[in-house]
Amino acid sequence: MDGGRPTSEFPAHLMSHMARLKVDPENRVVMHSHPTNTLAMNFVHELDEKKFTHTLWEMCTECIVVFPDGIGILPWMLCGTDEIGKATAKKMEEFRLVVWAMHGIYGAGKTMDETFGLIETVEKAAQIYMLTAHLPRKNTIKDEEMLQLVDLFRVNCRKDFLNIK
Ligand SMILES: [Zn+2]
Repeated sequence: MDGGRPTSEFPAHLMSHMARLKVDPENRVVMHSHPTNTLAMNFVHELDEKKFTHTLWEMCTECIVVFPDGIGILPWMLCGTDEIGKATAKKMEEFRLVVWAMHGIYGAGKTMDETFGLIETVEKAAQIYMLTAHLPRKNTIKDEEMLQLVDLFRVNCRKDFLNIK
């Protein structure tokens, strides 16, 4: 022992593992990081799961295919506590991605590569958002187009996160 303590995210990490494994036994990797643009977006975008997810889906064509279940969001909470651990695990029953407001993101997947790719896709979309949010929007990826992607790649997206029924 070198006297070191486990990371402050340890309870959340462990509980997320257990929650995610219950939903999908193949989701053996849980990753936590503090991606810059995803965090920046937390300060300027509403922290509503549907709106946040929808904005990111609009930013890159691959987004709805990569994270069709959307993104769960927890309000700012003290990290390192059982409380945030339980709240993250609860969200992980529904989402593979959970944003900790003004702190970072959790992702779950089958392998390190896949999970890293998942978070990286969110971060890339958030970067495009941050590069364009202050500029007049001339074009976007429409919900009808997202549905075409979902059909083509045969993924189940959260229809309630789209603006069309
Ligand atoms: Zn952290």
